[in-house]
Amino acid sequence: MPWPSDLEPDDAVFDLIDREVQRQSTGLQLIASENFTSPAVMRATGSVLTNKYSEGYPGKRYYGGNAIVDDIEAIAISRAKELFGAEHANVQPHSGASANMAVYLGLLDKGDTIMGLSLDHGGHLTHGSPVNASGIFYNFVSYKVDPSDERIDYEAMRELALEHKPKMIVAGTTSYPRRLDPEVFKKVADEVGAMLMFDMAHLAGLVAGGAHPNPVPLADVVTFTTHKTLRGPRGGCILSKAAHAAKIDKAVFPGSQGGPLEHVIAGKAVAFREAMHPSFTVYAHQITANASALAEALAHQGFRLVSGGTDNHLMVVDLTPFDAELTGKEAQSVLDVAGITLNKNTIPNDPRSPFVTSGVRIGTPSVTTQGMREPEMNEIAALIAEALRGRADDAKLGDVKARVGALCARFPVYS
Ligand SMILES: *Cc1c(COP(=O)(O)O)cnc(C)c1O
Repeated sequence: MPWPSDLEPDDAVFDLIDREVQRQSTGLQLIASENFTSPAVMRATGSVLTNKYSEGYPGKRYYGGNAIVDDIEAIAISRAKELFGAEHANVQPHSGASANMAVYLGLLDKGDTIMGLSLDHGGHLTHGSPVNASGIFYNFVSYKVDPSDERIDYEAMRELALEHKPKMIVAGTTSYPRRLDPEVFKKVADEVGAMLMFDMAHLAGLVAGGAHPNPVPLADVVTFTTHKTLRGPRGGCILSKAAHAAKIDKAVFPGSQGGPLEHVIAGKAVAFREAMHPSFTVYAHQITANASALAEALAHQGFRLVSGGTDNHLMVVDLTPFDAELTGKEAQSVLDVAGITLNKNTIPNDPRSPFVTSGVRIGTPSVTTQGMREPEMNEIAALIAEALRGRADDAKLGDVKARVGALCARFPVYS
């Protein structure tokens, strides 16, 4: 039978995909949680594996015909374990949020106390937001950054842990520009008898490339996304000590998911192998070098960097000293017009709401994948500052957009 889309091409969708290819290749992608994945990863995720039902785990499936899928998932599992030095890996979570919920489901009881970093200080929705299942089903207590240096106040976190005796401490951030110290978290967790979960969603690629301390040897369980700095397909993964393996696997399936996305799991396997390549170490270190260079250049343009700078792949920029009237929301939309994509972000103790904000978050994983280096970071800082200074002037924004296009044309991602 002919395919309906061959008889009547679906122009509506495919024209839009073509336009998105254009947008991604002609603008600067500075969203800290995004990246460009490789053609090999996309080949796997676009494969016939999407046709297969594989509920269960390698060797223990509910349906037939899974011998090949078993081999694929087994490769993904063994590569994940090798890459991070883990005792156990579950590669089935559909996303980072699904991975986190499965960990809570597997290792905790409803209503248990968990500690996580406050959302407006860099934590993630799944670390206890009242609108997220994590905050609905569990009793989250939030630790914060110290207002004086905008870094996690580890001593206050310890005191909070001693007071609330959480069953689990969650380390991990989504908009925090500084290194996380797994050893400090581990010490506090041990002191209060809590499990340690490290959510390295943003950091997995840096950890794989040796540009951030690896939490896997210390944490009971480590979750991550495969599509951020790790540069794989959109998805999640859970690593754990062998002692937690059975509970974690049961919580993923049948606890919270049905059939796994084996095409994505194949993509994860490809990405794990790419992350073991020596060039990935160079990539991870260039991400952080670029972030430092961009932060410094932005400071020269009159912006204030939350915590004074960055030692990872992202920075949070306080717009207030640059222009007290300028909100994160307006900056995001002005820069969008100029072909620069980033997101508004609260600064610690932001006087504005999370929908308006006084800051933006900027990350370097995507531009680093494109091959940009320190000189281009100076150029990007200048383009951002020019666009924001000239935000009332359409001609100015058009001029910046043209220069953004010229810069991106020098660093094509896909041939
Ligand atoms: C991105 C992120 C997640 C969620 O990942 P999704 O794939 O979007 O569900 C979880 N935790 C942290 C810290 C993140 O940054």
